[in-house]
Amino acid sequence: MNPFLISVPAAVLATGGVAAYGAAYPRAQLFGATICRSNSPRKLAITFDDGPNPAMTPQLLDLLDRYQAKATFFLIGRFVRECPDLVKETAARGHVIGNHTESHRNLTWLGPSQIVAELRLSHHAIANTLGAPAKWFRPPYGFRNPWVIPEAAALGCKTAMWTLIPGDWLERPVEWLIHRMQPIATHAQQNAAKSSNAGVTATGDILCLHDGYHKELNFDRTRTLAALEHWLPRWRDLGLQFVTMDEAVS
Ligand SMILES: [Zn+2]
Repeated sequence: MNPFLISVPAAVLATGGVAAYGAAYPRAQLFGATICRSNSPRKLAITFDDGPNPAMTPQLLDLLDRYQAKATFFLIGRFVRECPDLVKETAARGHVIGNHTESHRNLTWLGPSQIVAELRLSHHAIANTLGAPAKWFRPPYGFRNPWVIPEAAALGCKTAMWTLIPGDWLERPVEWLIHRMQPIATHAQQNAAKSSNAGVTATGDILCLHDGYHKELNFDRTRTLAALEHWLPRWRDLGLQFVTMDEAVS
């Protein structure tokens, strides 16, 4: 038996596969509360993982500025220490910085002391760089176990997941990625139709993209940028506001 399963009630284990679901399914709450949606259908929270990335993040910041879009960047601690000025620039331009662990290990298989180290090293790198701690955390691959979310909470961080992860790390054409991001526009159109009916409330999307790559700095993410360049004006025309995770829950 995997050690982390010991703390999961036997009745839950008896249902088979539930622990795996709790560890990996983005909206599962088995191993602690996570934020998986924005609180308004008009609010789209765009998030970027695995940076900072000197080859991509500066261009991405310029693109976001063109649409007055604010976003959330979940950073890898060891890259934060390598690129402190880029992290400061990202925060100075109104974006929110989140913790994406020190070295992007799969936390599912780590014990409590290793999880504390992975989260705290990155937490301190961000706090030392910005003079303020991160308030958001996202586990690598979205994988959790019983110690991950409580440790994030001990650092004062809420855990953010997503409603849509289109797979921008896959070697596919830009057109494929653009198509994979279609659900955001579809939801906006559906919500616009619903809002004409009184009393309907709905939530909004959290989109998970990547401006970096956890194994190396300066990785090419041109297709992610191109897909965003396609969608940002269209989403804006559908009435979506591009918000940080702070604004997504406020
Ligand atoms: Zn990641």
